[in-house]
Amino acid sequence: MLVPYLELQPIHQKIQKELDGAYHMVMNRQWFIGGRADEQFEKRFAAYCGASSCVGTGNGLDAIRLILLAYGIGPGDEVIVPANTFIATVLAVSYVGATPVFVDGSLDTFTIDPERIEEKITERTKAIIAVHLYGRCAAMELICKLAKRYSLKVIEDAAQAHGAQLNGKRTGVLGDAAAFSFYPGKNLGALGDAGAVVTNDEELARMVRAYGNYGSYEKYVHVYQGCNSRLDELQAAFLSVKLNYLDEWNEERRRIAREYTKKIQNPKIICPQIPENEEEHVFHIYPVLVEERTDFVETLKRQGIMSNVHYPIAIMEQGAYANCREQVVDYPVTERICRQEVSLPLYPGMTEEQIEWVIACVNNF
Ligand SMILES: *Cc1c(COP(=O)(O)O)cnc(C)c1O
Repeated sequence: MLVPYLELQPIHQKIQKELDGAYHMVMNRQWFIGGRADEQFEKRFAAYCGASSCVGTGNGLDAIRLILLAYGIGPGDEVIVPANTFIATVLAVSYVGATPVFVDGSLDTFTIDPERIEEKITERTKAIIAVHLYGRCAAMELICKLAKRYSLKVIEDAAQAHGAQLNGKRTGVLGDAAAFSFYPGKNLGALGDAGAVVTNDEELARMVRAYGNYGSYEKYVHVYQGCNSRLDELQAAFLSVKLNYLDEWNEERRRIAREYTKKIQNPKIICPQIPENEEEHVFHIYPVLVEERTDFVETLKRQGIMSNVHYPIAIMEQGAYANCREQVVDYPVTERICRQEVSLPLYPGMTEEQIEWVIACVNNF
C-alpha cells in the first residue's frame, strides 16, 4: 500500500468549492495586496490565537526576522536558539546581524532544554527564540521566567505549531511575539508562501508592519530601511477558509499520533510522548528515534511508506554556519536526533488502512 509522507489533496479536495470562492472573491475585487482579505484574516487569526494583533508577512522566516528588527536586535547582540530546529530560525538571527547561540534540546520533548539556557546567557543576550518543534510547545513557563530575570525578549517560532496549547493558551501569546509560517505543508498552510507575526504588543505590531512595507507607516515616507514582506490577498483569502478547519485537522493529527504511540510496540523504535492535559501537541511531525535509520527508512520505502528526517544535519555542522563550529562541543541530544530521527507519515485525510499499514510495518521492522 502506498503511504506518501504528506498529501494535501485530501483536505484541499474537501474544501475545493470554498477555495474557488475565495479566488473569485479576490478576482472580483481586483485588489491584491493589503486589502480586505488581509485585514479579515489578520483579525481572525489574532482572535484564534487570543492575541490583539496579527501582521501578515511574506513567509515564516521573514516573520522572525521582522520581529528581531522591530526589537532593534542586530550586530553585537546574541540570540539564544535551539540547536535542533529548521535552519530558518537561525537564519533570521543571522540576517539581522546578530549572533545565534545554540542550546541543546531535551530528549523527552525535542524542544530547547530550559535547564541549559542560563549557562549561555551573557550581557549581550537580547532574546530567546523558543521553537515549538514538531508541534509541541517549548517549556514556556521556565523560559519566560528566565527571560524575565535577565530582561530578555521571548520570541516564539510557531511555524510548526498553529493552535498548539499550553495551560489554556494558544501559541502566539506564550511569549512576547510569535512568528508563524503558512508554508503549504504546515498545519495551517497557504497555497504558496505566507507568514505572520502575532503579538499582544500593539506597538511592536505596528513596527513589524512598517518594516515589512519598505519601512513605511505612511505612503512614500520611509522611517526604516525596511523590506518588502507582506501577505497577498489571495493567500489571505485561502487562509481564512482553511482557518475554519484548523482545529478539526489538528484533532485528526492528534488522533493519528495517539494511535501510533499506542500501537507501535517495537523495542527498536522510540515513539514521542503524548503530553498531559494542560498541553496540546498538534503533531506537525511525528518523530521516532531508531538506531538503524538507513535500514528502517529503506524497509518502509520498500513497503510503500515514505518517511522524512527532521533534521539530518545540525545547523552548527552546516557549511553556512562554519563560523559557529566552536559551538559544536556539547550537543548530545541534537546529535542523536540528527542521527536517529525519522518522521512517519501523518496528515489529515490519511485513511485507516494507511495508518494501520504504517503501524504494522513499523512493528515488523
Ligand atoms: C517552516 C519553518 C520556518 C520558516 O517558514 P517559511 O514560511 O518556510 O519561511 C521557520 N521555523 C520553523 C521551525 C519552520 O518549520
